[in-house]
Amino acid sequence: MPEAFPAWMLLSLLAAMGLRLWLSLRQENHVRRHRDAVPPAFAERISLAAHQKAADYTIVRTRFGRAALAVELLVLLGLTYGGGLNVLHDFWSAHFDGLAYGIGLIASVAVLTSLADLPLDLYRQFRLEARFGFNRMTPAIYVSDLLKQALLAALLGLPLLAAVLWLMQTMGSYWWFHVWLVWIGFNLLILFAYPLWIAPLFNRFTPLPEGELKRRIAALLERCRFGAREIFVMDGSRRSSHGNAYFTGFGKARRIVFFDTLLERLSPPQVEAVLAHELGHFHHRHISKRMILVFSLSLLFLALLGQLIETPGFYRSLGVEHGGTAMGLVLFALVMPILTFPLTPIFSHLSRRHEFEADAYAARMASAGELSAALVKLYEDNAATLTPDPLHSLFHDSHPPASQRIARLQTT
Ligand SMILES: [Zn+2]
Repeated sequence: MPEAFPAWMLLSLLAAMGLRLWLSLRQENHVRRHRDAVPPAFAERISLAAHQKAADYTIVRTRFGRAALAVELLVLLGLTYGGGLNVLHDFWSAHFDGLAYGIGLIASVAVLTSLADLPLDLYRQFRLEARFGFNRMTPAIYVSDLLKQALLAALLGLPLLAAVLWLMQTMGSYWWFHVWLVWIGFNLLILFAYPLWIAPLFNRFTPLPEGELKRRIAALLERCRFGAREIFVMDGSRRSSHGNAYFTGFGKARRIVFFDTLLERLSPPQVEAVLAHELGHFHHRHISKRMILVFSLSLLFLALLGQLIETPGFYRSLGVEHGGTAMGLVLFALVMPILTFPLTPIFSHLSRRHEFEADAYAARMASAGELSAALVKLYEDNAATLTPDPLHSLFHDSHPPASQRIARLQTT
């Protein structure tokens, strides 16, 4: 008969998940209530049919989010209080010890949680996205993506995991500081390797062809004093009709990437304005600021993990009988994202402030009118709702609602 566990951890987990559920229900109701009228600010630019498509798409995705939340909760409860981790511990500890035991335990949890997510992901891609005309992925691409991702996760993840577990077991009580240094190194390596070797495994990148757009972009980069090595077009249309633009890499590997779907839909002056917005993030050093914040937080979390791992009550509060570095790491990775959810408005707020700053920069360096025209088109093409629930938005939206962004652009 296993020992009874104290209830505070279970109650905190359920409360954090209950908050997500409540926000999701609010979002669905709010969008549904505003489904029958385009907000006045957009009445001239968005048709009622497009507005209703966006509402339906948002409602379906919000409901899907609740199904995903239910699966997440079941997996969590099954692994912890349901005894799943105890069974995995018994299995791996019967065959291995030390590093091999830890890698076996963590890798099997990673495989199990990915398998639990797979049916949901298939449904999202081939039913939900397809229903609204966004999916362009074939089953063959899906399977090949999945295999490549699994291979990459094994190739990059297993050595990292081995290094982390080794440090945890050999570096004494300040192991977390050493792990932090390795973690930073690993992230910088990925940032450098991603555009050069990882992204090309999944997409084709071709240089932006000569023409009006390229001339405009060259002039914009000159005005903004931005030295980008290369500008690429990515075949995003292989998988989805959602459009996007981004920066990637740093130093010599720095490049600008446009999805082909974005270039199909926007005029050259609109693409220029979108790029000016991205350059605004760069100008204000948002990316470095974000990285510094994330790295500081990971140091804080690792130090906390350093304490928890030595606390028997931590394992017991989750219904787990055997402690240890690997088990502590697994539990921490399972519960931390859930327990810290109530703090997300802080980060969403920061991110939305950066978006406003980037918009203002784009208005200065390109054109406020072209940017808001581009935003309206992108919101319409992506069926993004113009009427989100304010509280849901406070938590979940990294970008300010369209109405706020466009209202600000009109005053600049
Ligand atoms: Zn942005």
